[in-house]
Amino acid sequence: MSFYVYNSYGKTREEFIPIKENHVGLYTCGPTVYNYAHIGNLRTYIFEDTLKKSFEYLKYDVKHVMNITDVGHLQSDADTGEDKMELGAKRENKTVWEIAKYYEDAFFDDCQKLNIKRPTIVCKATDHIAEMIELVQVLERKGYTYIADGNVYFEIDKFPDYNKLANLSMEELEAGSRVEVDENKKNPLDFVLWFTNSKFKNQIMQWDSPWGRGFPGWHLECSAMSIKYLGEKIDIHCGGIDHIPVHHTNEIAQSEAALGHKWVNYWMHGEFLVVDGGKMSKSSGDFLTLTRIVEEGFKPIVYRYFCLQSRYRKQLMFSYDALSDAGQSLKKLKNKIALIKDAVTENETVNSKKLDAFKISFGEQISDDLNMPNAFTVLNDVLKNDELNPLEKITLAEDFDRVFSLDLLKEEVVDISGIDEKLVNELLDERNDARNRKDWAKADEIRDRLNELNIEIVDSKEGASWKLKD
Ligand code: AMP
Ligand code: ZN
Repeated sequence: MSFYVYNSYGKTREEFIPIKENHVGLYTCGPTVYNYAHIGNLRTYIFEDTLKKSFEYLKYDVKHVMNITDVGHLQSDADTGEDKMELGAKRENKTVWEIAKYYEDAFFDDCQKLNIKRPTIVCKATDHIAEMIELVQVLERKGYTYIADGNVYFEIDKFPDYNKLANLSMEELEAGSRVEVDENKKNPLDFVLWFTNSKFKNQIMQWDSPWGRGFPGWHLECSAMSIKYLGEKIDIHCGGIDHIPVHHTNEIAQSEAALGHKWVNYWMHGEFLVVDGGKMSKSSGDFLTLTRIVEEGFKPIVYRYFCLQSRYRKQLMFSYDALSDAGQSLKKLKNKIALIKDAVTENETVNSKKLDAFKISFGEQISDDLNMPNAFTVLNDVLKNDELNPLEKITLAEDFDRVFSLDLLKEEVVDISGIDEKLVNELLDERNDARNRKDWAKADEIRDRLNELNIEIVDSKEGASWKLKD
């Protein structure tokens, strides 16, 4: 089955042709660990996780590499020239190393809650300073760099394809990069590969280098680490769309200049999650985290489901109302599956030939540049198909959930309006029986279980009934 992706490099839909048959080398830009990830960032990681699992579903062997930016950098989404790691350390009265460790753990905690699988290799910038220095040395040897006021710059005018990914006018590129004016640059879009003379004189994270003690520019780590772990040619490189005009444009320039050939075959970018007031910015500190939405009563998995309801290349508007609708819809889906699961009988068997047609339909949707809304339609068609027995339906739901990762077969009530009345009435009958037998322990156990489901038992002369807890 062909896998089609939208390649941001060239802006076309293309058939994915792997470098090595049945293998995918995937690099995704990871978090800068100076604060919690916001739910916008997490949307991008959910998209990348879904991409990886879609390839795995179609029997590709995926090697996924992700970096952790744990060294401060001067350039990013809302660049004001601050060193973000130092900023985090000051804010929390901790060392930069403590900040990095804390927020890296918090990030993987969020990922786990969202069923995002850990990449094959997670690599930290601070563990790869030698590789970054080596890359700058290659660029220096090949004549792509210059030194000004102690810093090593990449000279973009030496790299004619500089604008190929973004395909913007120079003015737009400049506006996108939002860099502070740096008098040392030959071209305002030149970028620093190695700082020895930053405006942050007391940088704690500094290393010796051929150009003096200092630290790397932000873009360098992704080139150095991806080449180390995935080789000189990569199948797919991902990130959020904000990375197109600066970070990825610079990554391409320095990697291809150093390697002397094309570096990445397919660039895939996830659109933004937006909130009412516009963009969510990690650096401004004004953002929604997964913990926050859990505090509002939503299960993390509801957020994953919410993201999967729209296509990754479309902007997604976040609101609690929309999240609540997603919660209702997920609950209905899970209840439907739970009822089918209950209906499975002992002597049912699975006709795997019959299932294949549905697996192919599902595969066609996920390989259509991740058409997840249509993939859910395939699931719904399966659940209501009269020619499939309950066991076959459950088998398919479980199979599709390898990509959805929504714990579709786990019976859990997503929220109070998701009460399975049949189950509640059965439990109530069981409790009545226990009380009639004077088995108080059992009766209490059932009451506690109902309590967990947000159900309150009301005992009266007419017998026991139940209501939702206030
Ligand atoms: P950062 O930790 O800021 O480097 O961002 C991590 C990832 O989240 C990057 O791939 C960004 O492109 C992406 N990203 C940042 N803001 C958003 C947003 N509002 N919606 C979706 N992805 C985002
Ligand atoms: Zn990167």
